[in-house]
Amino acid sequence: MKQKKAKTSSEREQRFLTLEEARELEKLHLFPLFLKSRFPFVAVRGEGCYLWDAEGRRYLDFTSGGRAAAILGHCPSAVAEAVANQARTLLHVTGDFYAAPQLMLAKQLTEISGFDRAFICNSGTEANEAAIKLARKYAKSISAAKTEIITFEGSFHGRTYGALSATGQRNYQKGFEPLVPGFTHIPFNDEAALQRAASDSTCAVMLEPVLGESGVFPASEGFIRTTREVCDRRGALLIFDEVQTGLGRTGRLFAFEHFGVKPDVLTLAKGLGTGFPVAAMLARGRAAEAFAPGDHGTTFGGGPLACAAALACVQEIEKRELVDRARSLGELMMSRLRSIAAQVPAISQVRGLGLMVGVDTDGPRAAELRRACLERGLLIAGSTERTVRLLPPLVISEQDLERGLEAFRLAAEEI
Ligand SMILES: *Cc1c(COP(=O)(O)O)cnc(C)c1O
Repeated sequence: MKQKKAKTSSEREQRFLTLEEARELEKLHLFPLFLKSRFPFVAVRGEGCYLWDAEGRRYLDFTSGGRAAAILGHCPSAVAEAVANQARTLLHVTGDFYAAPQLMLAKQLTEISGFDRAFICNSGTEANEAAIKLARKYAKSISAAKTEIITFEGSFHGRTYGALSATGQRNYQKGFEPLVPGFTHIPFNDEAALQRAASDSTCAVMLEPVLGESGVFPASEGFIRTTREVCDRRGALLIFDEVQTGLGRTGRLFAFEHFGVKPDVLTLAKGLGTGFPVAAMLARGRAAEAFAPGDHGTTFGGGPLACAAALACVQEIEKRELVDRARSLGELMMSRLRSIAAQVPAISQVRGLGLMVGVDTDGPRAAELRRACLERGLLIAGSTERTVRLLPPLVISEQDLERGLEAFRLAAEEI
């Protein structure tokens, strides 16, 4: 019998999966959690705003890697090099060691945000967990009964128990009860409801300045001002979940800058490492003094590799003036989409801020629209049954943006 020669690892790396093989492996070995949302191709390579599949087909990525994280596009060389160099020098130590990347990142983030202290972790969910724990700890020093956290209907804060309990969407919570007690969900952008819900037991108000997952709904200025007033009056912390809006996505470095209001606690994740898992919880003033040694922690969070990626990413955002770019390209995108909405019956509404845009179809046709875009080589993100999201990388060229929007127009006309 002939013996099959074992494949070398580089040969194995070269072997691309077909879509059928990928689906079979998923079926056999993975929880079916992404079964409904996966794009029907095997991603093998990314560069800038483009992804390539195993057959060499190219896709224009208006999802920034699926969920808005890759704000510098795919494989930006500055970040790839920083990660590679750091991996060869010092890949891992915990916070039990001093290491420059974590300290430099904390310095960088507090300087650019005007916050006082940072906790570096691995995901948006974790940053929000840290914010929730910080708020409860802070409020305990005022009164043991000060534990209630107000969040908003349609919000998304993550999938672990604290963050899931904060999330204002029943569909994410169903089946996982009992949730963490002490969360009240009230309608977004409703100042009167907030005034009614707040009391001296309120420990924090937590919100996304632009509701992301649920369809891109920007907060109104009056509402945000009211959240600040209510928190000041009740001695509660104002927490902004800028996991999706932070780092330039909305045309400001942080979305809070649009509103002339500063939260006490800020969480960042998606764009921070342009896809590398890294996140931060920032606090200022008295909130920044609430954690004592040992109150919170993490093994991987703030590791040298992740912090090197985030440092390189933040430097690129500044060097390439991507915040201004997101603002001007966002205006261009919005004006094109408004004219599409006026001309194409399938598109009923457009909303957004910077390069974060939600588009409503005239019925439950989001999946159909995403399919039609895919057929034209354009990837757009999902949201609800009737809403899609356009979240291109901040580095996108005007030409690629126009190309994508033209494909979007044709797809919308076709459905
Ligand atoms: C994606 C997201 C999260 C969760 O972040 P993960 O990194 O997936 O844990 C939390 N809040 C908002 C606003 C998000 O968009």
